[in-house]
Amino acid sequence: MRTVRAGKIPILMYHQVDLPAPRGTQFRSLTVHPKSFARQMRWMHRLGYQGLSMRDLMPYLSGEREGKVFGITFDDGFRNVYQHALPVLKEAGFTATNYFVAHQLDGSNVWDADKNMPQTPLMSLAEMQQWAKSGQEVGSHTLNHVHLPLLSADQARAEIIRSRLELGSHVQQEITAFCYPFGEYCPEHCRMAQEAGYLNATTTERGRVRQQDDLFELPRVGVWRSTYLLKFFQKCLTGHEDRKRG
Ligand SMILES: [Zn+2]
Repeated sequence: MRTVRAGKIPILMYHQVDLPAPRGTQFRSLTVHPKSFARQMRWMHRLGYQGLSMRDLMPYLSGEREGKVFGITFDDGFRNVYQHALPVLKEAGFTATNYFVAHQLDGSNVWDADKNMPQTPLMSLAEMQQWAKSGQEVGSHTLNHVHLPLLSADQARAEIIRSRLELGSHVQQEITAFCYPFGEYCPEHCRMAQEAGYLNATTTERGRVRQQDDLFELPRVGVWRSTYLLKFFQKCLTGHEDRKRG
């Protein structure tokens, strides 16, 4: 199966969950306040929605199951997600996918250094294993957070395949969720991800998942520091930013 059978499912895209960086910091908007994150999850829970990792969301995307569900994803494997988001997910009984950069465990977001973005610690191997053990999903974000379209086909394939194998061996689980770093990819990378054994891949295209969407080009609903609760609901539940089919 390569297309989605059930539409209008939001897959939330988060990066960091932490206290805001000082004013003027680059990409400050990528960090959601722990209290905002907790409020968003508690409200969805109260409204009867179940937050799911990509692995757990798949039966809903395929139309095998129906229900009030939404996907929760985090890019890059930041330690502050382990610290601030994991307890909230556990409390709500939700699962989420975190896309790890296989060669940056216990490292930092070195790929952002040239953009003046502050360096923030990523989860260690032990923390990633703990993340997996608590029922959360480990997804892949390549070995080195590369710009896939700038690589040769062989290099791109190696980043996609080897990250799956390495992360899988660390958590003794099949890695089936992939996310294109920087949201950059070409059609050949979707094919490579599928051939490598992934079952889905997310992008930075905005909006909820629609029927007939490609499982290897899934859009997401971005949640930013500035996404206040009403806006959050508009994005999740009314498709406020759903893409228009071109
Ligand atoms: Zn990333």
